[in-house]
Amino acid sequence: MAERDIERWFADQQARDARRREVCVSKRRFDSEAEARAVALWDRTRFGTELTCYRCAECDGWHLTGGRGRSHG
Ligand SMILES: [Zn+2]
Repeated sequence: MAERDIERWFADQQARDARRREVCVSKRRFDSEAEARAVALWDRTRFGTELTCYRCAECDGWHLTGGRGRSHG
């Protein structure tokens, strides 16, 4: 791999990491999957939004993703 390619690859990885961190801090964080699921269920009951919980590699917690409409999660 040319040095330039490595630099580009590295910059790309950093941009990806930064984006992931941004998403992480902007989202609600849960300590456990059970907690995340409970909130997802509650949101579905109240707002009809379909949320999926996933394990976050950044903070080692759980976040919710998905949903429809104006939500920006
Ligand atoms: Zn996170």
